[in-house]
Amino acid sequence: MSFDYLIIGNSISGLTTAYRLAQLATHAKIGIVGPAARTGSATMAAGAMLGLFGEVTAENYADHYDRAYFELAYHAQSMWPDFIDEINSQVDPEDSVQIHPDGTFILFNTQDTHDYHAILSTLQEYKEPYEVVAPEDIPGLAPEQSACTSAGIYIPRERSVNPIAVLQALEHVLKKNPAVTQINDTAVQLCTTQPDHMAMAGVRLSNGDLLHAGQVILAAGVGSQDLMDTLPGLAGRIPYLMSGDGVSFSLDQQALGSAQIQHVMRTPNRAGAYSLHVVPGVKNHRFLYLGAGNIMQWKPQSGTSVGNTACIMRNSLREISKHLGNARLLRLNRGNRPTTVDGYPLFGACTCIAGLWLLTGTGRDGFQRSPLLSWHMARKLTGTTTSSAAEQTTRAIFEAFSPERPPVQTCSQAQAIAQLQHDIDRARQHKADGILTAELQTCLPDRLYAEISRVYAQLDTNLALPSMTLLPILCRRWPIDSLKSYLDAAKHCHPVRSAAAA
Ligand SMILES: Cc1cc2nc3c(=O)[nH]c(=O)nc-3n(C[C@H](O)[C@H](O)[C@H](O)COP(=O)(O)OP(=O)(O)OC[C@H]3O[C@@H](n4cnc5c(N)ncnc54)[C@H](O)[C@@H]3O)c2cc1C
Repeated sequence: MSFDYLIIGNSISGLTTAYRLAQLATHAKIGIVGPAARTGSATMAAGAMLGLFGEVTAENYADHYDRAYFELAYHAQSMWPDFIDEINSQVDPEDSVQIHPDGTFILFNTQDTHDYHAILSTLQEYKEPYEVVAPEDIPGLAPEQSACTSAGIYIPRERSVNPIAVLQALEHVLKKNPAVTQINDTAVQLCTTQPDHMAMAGVRLSNGDLLHAGQVILAAGVGSQDLMDTLPGLAGRIPYLMSGDGVSFSLDQQALGSAQIQHVMRTPNRAGAYSLHVVPGVKNHRFLYLGAGNIMQWKPQSGTSVGNTACIMRNSLREISKHLGNARLLRLNRGNRPTTVDGYPLFGACTCIAGLWLLTGTGRDGFQRSPLLSWHMARKLTGTTTSSAAEQTTRAIFEAFSPERPPVQTCSQAQAIAQLQHDIDRARQHKADGILTAELQTCLPDRLYAEISRVYAQLDTNLALPSMTLLPILCRRWPIDSLKSYLDAAKHCHPVRSAAAA
């Protein structure tokens, strides 16, 4: 089989891109490859909060790149209502998707003061409607005495959807389009033109079939890294894609009676992208989503972390509602957040192999941005431009996240070390023990500093690395050699810019 465009990955990034591409390239043949079960897909485990202000932290809003990434979320937010209406107009009423009509309560305790001020000032800067709410006025909030919320903010436009309903509706729409073929299989190899290897030729499937395509879009989440590894020439050119091992739970909250939770409630993001959040069902009010931890792994792992699972359960009962203990656990959801070693996404074309594109690395909030990211990708793929001011702004931002780059640098190595110490401190304060080893939970500051310095010395790098990337090494979750090999390869591929980071 041959296609004009072949998309690898069948979750939110892959399906939204196929959908927009089919609108812009009406005569093109589009293939989507991905296993129907979508095991390990981040989308399938997501709370699908459509929030952005609740994602702001005192640390992550400080630099140019974080601001740029936030801007994408800001533009994406206003696209959701029209996007959902558009899809609903093409599916049967029983398959339609609803956005939850209510907004999000953000819960702060005394250790979250800096994040509270960061969120508040961002809301004001963007003139986003919000309300400061007393904890006793937050419906459904019932923390234990020792973990009381000290302040709350209600953001009416931070809504949520059911991600599985969105995927199913998109699948229905795409199925009706004769130009689109959905292939229930896994890609195992990227194939380039022979003998020069300068351009994409197609993709090999696990059943041995070769699909021919000159334009291949990797939207396979963490699976994208294994596919890139099949082209040795890419090593070090693109920031390595790790797996943010996430876990969430589907609950039946009927037994909570009048204590049932009807609104999204969430804490700010804490060390290791860990935040507690509950998301009630839109169509089924008995349903409650509870999430979500994040344990970084170099490669996706089977199963899930017991510590992480216990930590979310215990802390949500402490901080959100002690009545949650009466809920029934229906399902444990596992998803791998595609997260790069520099913490920033990968959008756009690879320059070293013509026809290879990436749309991944969206970490903990790629679902919310998907309506915007898919438009951008479809326009880039088809060479379509518009003159809208919003598009001009976002186009410049997308360029900053082009895949072939050395790790993005937003601070000095000394600042990165201080940040990591601070994050470990916060994880301890918030009892996020699932993300720390027993040793790190008690390690004294001098010892911790020495340990982090030793890791940097072993890595032999002058780069500053995000806490998310170094913490798992301190926790001995993966050997240092894997990160060192990537950094050595990146130094080789991007010598000038890596040196400039010194
Ligand atoms: C617990 C959790 C909670 C989250 N909460 C939110 C939230 O509230 N809001 C938000 O915006 N984001 C959230 N996220 C992040 C969000 O889910 C991701 O950023 C986004 O869904 C990534 O989508 P994706 O399609 O790029 O990747 P994925 O959803 O991971 O999908 C990748 C797809 O590619 C397929 N695939 C993999 N390898 C191959 C291969 N070799 N060949 C073919 N197909 C392959 C997989 O089967 C899968 O279907 C959360 C993530 C997790 C884990």
